[in-house]
Amino acid sequence: MQARGYVERVDKRLVPTETGELVNDLLVKHFADIVDFGFTARMESNLDEVASGNREWVDVIRKFYGPFAEDLERAQKEMPQTKRGPEPIGRACPKCGHDLVIRYGRYGKFISCSDFPTCRHTEPWLEKIGVTCPKDGGEIVMRKTRKGRTFYGCAHYPECDFTSWKRPLPEPCPKCKGLLVVSNKREAQCIACEESFLLDEIQAETVE
Ligand SMILES: [Zn+2]
Ligand SMILES: [Zn+2]
Ligand SMILES: [Zn+2]
Repeated sequence: MQARGYVERVDKRLVPTETGELVNDLLVKHFADIVDFGFTARMESNLDEVASGNREWVDVIRKFYGPFAEDLERAQKEMPQTKRGPEPIGRACPKCGHDLVIRYGRYGKFISCSDFPTCRHTEPWLEKIGVTCPKDGGEIVMRKTRKGRTFYGCAHYPECDFTSWKRPLPEPCPKCKGLLVVSNKREAQCIACEESFLLDEIQAETVE
């Protein structure tokens, strides 16, 4: 699933990509017998559960897509090619001026030139998380190590060297206004004063 770009793994959560949604729509249209509305609804509620962290994504995929692997394969061959090309990101290729687009590769989402393979310019996909860098106020983005491990860094890298293995939160530390990072499933820790807070409390405060 991930290799084909239907879903992306973000931390341990599974997020359906646009391609995934497109495939789902096409499956519903062309294979109504195997992908009935009950199935779609169940799949969606399961994906919701995964997204909210209540279910392991592996279980969901195994349970729902395992039996349909063959049908999926056939569907891919028989379904009409979609006219929709890769999604442009609204910026021109610095090498040749063509649109830059989003593509899905072995290691997930990345940015490439729409004129590929003539132009081989690529850039890593930097997912913004809505948090600013405590060092210089730059945008914090998700990055991946060569081995595929997710970490968080400043968009101004290499000028700014801020990095964190733990996910930074948009809510400031209630005590010192420093940057909070998720330290475990229930707690966040401030990187400035090192105080820990319950995630529930941190996030409840912003709702009020
Ligand atoms: Zn190019
Ligand atoms: Zn920075
Ligand atoms: Zn603090």
